[in-house]
Amino acid sequence: MSLALATGRRAFLKRSIVAGVAGMGAATISNPLMASSGLLLPEYYAGAQEAAAFWAKPRVLNLFRPSTGEHRVICFWRDGAIDMQGYREACHMLRDVRAGLTVAMDLRLLNLLRGQQGWLEEAYGLREPYQVNSGYRGMQTNESEGGVRDSFHTKAMAADGKYPSLPIEYQGKLIAAFRSGGVGFYINRQKFIHSDVGRVRFWVR
Ligand SMILES: [Zn+2]
Repeated sequence: MSLALATGRRAFLKRSIVAGVAGMGAATISNPLMASSGLLLPEYYAGAQEAAAFWAKPRVLNLFRPSTGEHRVICFWRDGAIDMQGYREACHMLRDVRAGLTVAMDLRLLNLLRGQQGWLEEAYGLREPYQVNSGYRGMQTNESEGGVRDSFHTKAMAADGKYPSLPIEYQGKLIAAFRSGGVGFYINRQKFIHSDVGRVRFWVR
């Protein structure tokens, strides 16, 4: 798969996608967030117009769940409103597989995953699904998977996953660029990124 940069798209994107999730003005994201891999991150927040243009488009998520083999391309938002059928499908894909529990996922989490995927698709032409290792977790599942007691997974506000073809650190920095919650870099043994829409914070394991 090609990671060749679509330059024109990037110029637009780097000033658009991040702004939509964060809903902010013209603040700068500076060098520390530039990925060491050489892959590009959205560099700064943009005007509301460009952000609106990106977020007005249908919000599609390409999701793969390795533990069940399910793969879905889901549109959870179109024409300025939630698409309930797609939203339910997204909740299904992010369910607690172990306990068989599906709950209403936080829409901000879906937007965050969409923002990340939109960036990768439009800046790099990446079409790889986001691999979901864990989404919502009931209390029992959370305990048996070693999650902290108040894990945002139990509040339907977190996902663990990755794009297998991309450097894992880059993926965490990309999520972090949205500044919409916590980012856990699991880069030493298991390779995945925890993303949530709770408080902004970072950790490395
Ligand atoms: Zn997690």
